[in-house]
Amino acid sequence: MKLPESSAELAGATWESCLPYYEALAQVPLDAASLPGWLADWSRFESALSEAASLAMIAYTCDTTDPAKEAAHLRFSTEILPKAEEQSVRLARRLVETGIVPEGMETTVARFKTSIEIFREENVPLFAELEEMASKYQRITGGMMAEWEGEQRPLPMLSPFLQARDRTVRERAFRATVTPYVDVQPALSQLFDGMYAHRQQVARQADFRDFQTFSFAAKHRFDYTPGDCERFHDAVDAVVVPAYARVLVARRKRLGLEALRPWDIPVNPYRAEPLRPFKTGDEMARGTEKIIGALDPVLAGQFRTMMDEGLLDLDSRKGKAPGGYCDTLHVKGRPFIFMNASGVLDDLVTLLHEAGHAFHAFASHAQPLVWQRHPGAEAAELASMSMELLSGPHLGPPDGMLDQRDAAIARLEHLEDVLANLVHIASVDAFQSWIYSSGEGGDPVARDQAWLRIRSRFEQGVDWSGLTAERIARWYRQLHIFLYPFYYIEYGIAQLGALQVWRNRMRDGAPALEAYRAFLALGATRPLPDLYRTAGAQLVFDAVAMRPLIDLVEEEIDQLRQSI
Ligand SMILES: [Zn+2]
Repeated sequence: MKLPESSAELAGATWESCLPYYEALAQVPLDAASLPGWLADWSRFESALSEAASLAMIAYTCDTTDPAKEAAHLRFSTEILPKAEEQSVRLARRLVETGIVPEGMETTVARFKTSIEIFREENVPLFAELEEMASKYQRITGGMMAEWEGEQRPLPMLSPFLQARDRTVRERAFRATVTPYVDVQPALSQLFDGMYAHRQQVARQADFRDFQTFSFAAKHRFDYTPGDCERFHDAVDAVVVPAYARVLVARRKRLGLEALRPWDIPVNPYRAEPLRPFKTGDEMARGTEKIIGALDPVLAGQFRTMMDEGLLDLDSRKGKAPGGYCDTLHVKGRPFIFMNASGVLDDLVTLLHEAGHAFHAFASHAQPLVWQRHPGAEAAELASMSMELLSGPHLGPPDGMLDQRDAAIARLEHLEDVLANLVHIASVDAFQSWIYSSGEGGDPVARDQAWLRIRSRFEQGVDWSGLTAERIARWYRQLHIFLYPFYYIEYGIAQLGALQVWRNRMRDGAPALEAYRAFLALGATRPLPDLYRTAGAQLVFDAVAMRPLIDLVEEEIDQLRQSI
């Protein structure tokens, strides 16, 4: 049977039309001689199917109002992919049973083995229902509008006002942005009840104690444990929380305030107006191309390809799904970047972040088989977060579009965000750990109380008095908790890895960037600690390793502050 080799052949696929291809692959006799050809065929088919699903998802997230696009996306995400996953496990089992581990497939075979061990037929319909719940979350939050100056506006359009110099304006913007989440809190809480019950049942049916331990296996976290994550929380508490508290004291003084309220965090204390370096997505893309060009000509060439081939959808507009992502089209060997830009500096940082994922996709496409390309999120986010930090020195003259002072302000803001994010990551991860391991995660009231408790441990120096409902609403806005459970600590591990890549670049110059690119090209062909080592970094969970990196961030913050 001839297998489809392009996503176009699968654009209108149904499960019934896909199954025969899997059947054909399941029938091929396997031995040392036939295995390489069989793997290549299977990889080509998986690439085409995944690309067809990605194109349907891209079409839908770019226009959530078109019922045909929604239906196509749902057909792939709720019908085809869960069943394809089941068939993939069946084929993976065939590979594992040969006892042959082809060169460069060691990590893939280890992943396959674990996926086989935790696979249960009876979990397939539960995952399909979880996908439907996930699209319900996206429907509720994607269509969310805020009341602003008498008009209904998509939430991302308010981000410039969240950074307004005028305190009353940013307070209004904060309230306008949070209120829709407070309003739908009962609906989202009920939705989460269903997700919680489904996930715990998935775990039990796979013979795991809870969904946390299941997730560590499902996410192929071979190199760290829930205990390591707890050490990570403690280290953040000991090292980052005090560092960030010092940043907040400086901010409070600079703003001349008695106390910092939540709406005093996004404002930039160094500029009368928020930095708005770009008006349109096109303009932002051109500026980004120049910044990346200053860093590396090969990476800049790849970014130009994305601009030329329409692989960027950057502007915010009504009907687009919220958030941002970078997806890979595995047959074309091309990434696609989706964003909701409104012209603020954060958009530029986000684009640089997603560009790091895109460069990973370009570099790892040289790996012949689809499974060898995408490492776990810990390595994927190392690629993207390193790009944010590496491009920092090029934001100003002569490469960037910011002047000297604004570039210093932008870098200062970014480094402060690094500290804020680590604190946020620790709280989200500790919360998810509590949800699935405490035995009380199915109780909506206990859940909200646990969030408040964990949040107060990590988020210090901000006065939330009188805003309890708003503070609770924060976790309902954290789409990972709904859509990608336990996908969050990766950002923390990767952030600390990226700080090491950035430190190496400051200390050693060009070799640090060569190490970064060597890491990208490895794709998923080495275990996580090896991938980090190739990039010039290590996995950090403890205060001893964390402290010098955070000290470096604080030193840099102090210097930048003095230069402004
Ligand atoms: Zn990312």
